[in-house]
Amino acid sequence: MTMKNRDDLLDLLKRIDGRGYKAYKDIKDRYDFEQFELIIDHVQGDPFALPSKMRVRVAQSVAGFPVDTFSNPSRQIALCDFLARQFHQATGRYVKGNRGTGKGGLIGIDRPGQEILQTTAIIVQEDFVEARFVFGLPAFGRRIAGRDAAEMFLDELPQVTEAALLFTNLDHDKLYEHIKTAEDADVLRAKLPELNLLAFVDDGAILPRASGIDPRPMSSGKAVPFQSPESMRVAVDLPNTGKITGMGIKEGITLIVGGGYHGKSTLLNALALGIYNHIPGDGRERVVSNPTMMKIRAEDGRRIEKVAIDPFINNLPLGQDTHAFCSENASGSTSQAANIIEALEAGTRVLLIDEDTSATNFMIRDHRMQELVSKDREPITPFIDKARQLYTDLGISTVLVIGGSGDYFDIADHVICMHDYQPQDYTEQAKAVAEKYRAERQPEGGESFGQLHDRIPVRNSFDPSRNNRAVKISTNGRHSIGFGRTDIDLTAVEQIVNISQTRAIAEAIYYATRYMDGQKNLTQVLDLVEQDIQTHGLDVLSNEPTGNFAIFRKLELAAAINRLRTLTVQ
Ligand code: ADP
Ligand code: MG
Repeated sequence: MTMKNRDDLLDLLKRIDGRGYKAYKDIKDRYDFEQFELIIDHVQGDPFALPSKMRVRVAQSVAGFPVDTFSNPSRQIALCDFLARQFHQATGRYVKGNRGTGKGGLIGIDRPGQEILQTTAIIVQEDFVEARFVFGLPAFGRRIAGRDAAEMFLDELPQVTEAALLFTNLDHDKLYEHIKTAEDADVLRAKLPELNLLAFVDDGAILPRASGIDPRPMSSGKAVPFQSPESMRVAVDLPNTGKITGMGIKEGITLIVGGGYHGKSTLLNALALGIYNHIPGDGRERVVSNPTMMKIRAEDGRRIEKVAIDPFINNLPLGQDTHAFCSENASGSTSQAANIIEALEAGTRVLLIDEDTSATNFMIRDHRMQELVSKDREPITPFIDKARQLYTDLGISTVLVIGGSGDYFDIADHVICMHDYQPQDYTEQAKAVAEKYRAERQPEGGESFGQLHDRIPVRNSFDPSRNNRAVKISTNGRHSIGFGRTDIDLTAVEQIVNISQTRAIAEAIYYATRYMDGQKNLTQVLDLVEQDIQTHGLDVLSNEPTGNFAIFRKLELAAAINRLRTLTVQ
């Protein structure tokens, strides 16, 4: 049987024009459009339902992408990202939009933000380029608007496809800049271990954002470009940009100090997002971090399931167990402790902590307080007494923003002082101050960091069902997942930057349950999920091709699992 073609689709649309919406079901098929193939994977049930899911696939003989645009994973991901942006722009230009009822008229692709992430919106392979998008099949009331549909399929979609997916029609300079920027960032990140660095911030980087809700760069007139202190400056050679210089943050414990409003948190946030590559013009193209870096914060109110927080918390009132600590409503300090232990369990090597989002009593206990409330009456061992052990016992580094407590000078390897948005190396000065004014507080951390424990997740504590649906998983914005009857709050998981990541994480929670056999611990389960995604791509997470997944780390998957309120572990 030969594949249907565009005329067949047109005939079909004419035939069902004016009929009830359900008749659209007949168009689910593959169609040869000569320039490309149209694949209709899912047809919506009514004009108000989630729009239909479709793909266009262009053979490379037509698309014509030179091999060097996708010759390694960095380039391939950047090419896909670039094409998704082009496709999105082209829909703005060629798609009329709103037609009739509900979502009718929509042609939409998942739109990337400031980061260049591996997603499922565009797939590029040796022999084809594929775009996955949603399509609002038009109707008037519940009657099929066949003519409008025909316009969308036969005029708009081909125009969008040609504009976005044919190499000849793209701005080649921009495309190569995009690819080379991502490639350089990956090379730079891969060099960090040999340079003994946790992170690198290049000279000239623009770290501040347009606003608290707008992740684009602060306008260049206002932003002070980053300049490394001389003593921390490192030179690196990149394949495309050549030699660059910038500030290297070394392993161990680094403090970021300085006056309020001088740019401390902005620097820390840039490091937190240095796990991702950024688009040209973002300002953080060459700001890169250790890929396991995890920003930790206090999160009172969260649930905790049998986490061994005893390195930080002991002797709670009424003899509550902190070796396998449970809480339906954690405090600031217990939540921050759990966030650290869980991040270690999920494989972080570097913690980022900002005083702005920390529990004070988790961070510090000064001399006077030690005198007033003796250690045997205080359950918390503050982070200041554990950070050094984290590094010496486990090799875990920390970067901390601390504007309020000089006691931290005693445990710091490096001290960066932010002044007028510029970093200065204050390591020597801080040591001199610590020497001159000895801290009178007593270390309370004991001999070693303490024991980490495996947790084995219990499969049947993950119930994705809701009402009459066996699996009901949804994403309500970047920070909220509906898993069966429970909601997972990800507000405190700061390194999720895109709702497509949240969607993929939501599916991955369910996917992960296949590995929960009562034997494997959470770390092993996370590794298996990660391996499957590396081998088969993000498509492995769903039964049908889906265009709206973006890559995430196992750290964020673990964070979501740990926030599932029904979770139980053995
Ligand atoms: P801190 O944590 O030291 O109190 P923030 O990092 O929150 O300071 O920064 C304070 C303000 O300064 C923010 O509005 C931020 O956007 C802005 N800012 C940060 N870095 C720069 C910079 N390099 N140039 C211009 N403004 C900046
Ligand atoms: Mg701050």
